Amino acid sequence: MKILIVEDERRAAEYLRQGLAESGHVVEVAFNGTDGLHAAINGDHDLIVLDVMLPGLDGFAVLSALRTAKQTPVLMLTARAQVNDKVRGFDLGADDYLVKPFQFPELLARVRTLLKRGRPAPSDPVQRVADLDIDPVRHRATRSGQRIDLSAKEFALLALLVQRTGEVLSRTQIASLVWDIHFDSETNVVDVAIRRLRAKIDDPFPDKLIHTVRGVGYVLESRP
Ligand code: CA
Repeated sequence: MKILIVEDERRAAEYLRQGLAESGHVVEVAFNGTDGLHAAINGDHDLIVLDVMLPGLDGFAVLSALRTAKQTPVLMLTARAQVNDKVRGFDLGADDYLVKPFQFPELLARVRTLLKRGRPAPSDPVQRVADLDIDPVRHRATRSGQRIDLSAKEFALLALLVQRTGEVLSRTQIASLVWDIHFDSETNVVDVAIRRLRAKIDDPFPDKLIHTVRGVGYVLESRP
């Protein structure tokens, strides 16, 4: 994701740039409001982190001018904890607001939320559960932005689980919907397939999405 930082304090700007770059973002920095506005209007950013206190054109002026042209999500930063600033920021079209000093993980959490919100949703064929995205049209699955290679059957199984998020599916249901076979005897084909799928989509990540419901089957859901 491309992020623009508008912040005149060099150390703070560098701290943000480095942290966001380490989180995998492409980061551009502007050190004053005029440059920031120019970069925001001409650039193609997914998010703008905008400091309020800037020399010349301040953050509110930048936001106000930007909103006449673009709806790029804006996270405002301020050293002033005044409620008025917050209200003014939101009135001008800020998407979120963070008061300095803040811990970097807090900023990162806000950034993630805004980036998710900013992605196209209604006509988007991508189905999403937590940080797992599947694109049934392109047969593509990603988790936390990392591409996951799946066989055709593994993809079909994952697509079924995602489509029925939160719904417990029995082994028989899964076998019938994914393999089009109907078992009349005990078989572990579904368990084997689930194990392979878990190794790819769950094992490398801290939050597990596929859950076993003992004596029933499996369910895919986010359990934070
Ligand atoms: Ca500043």
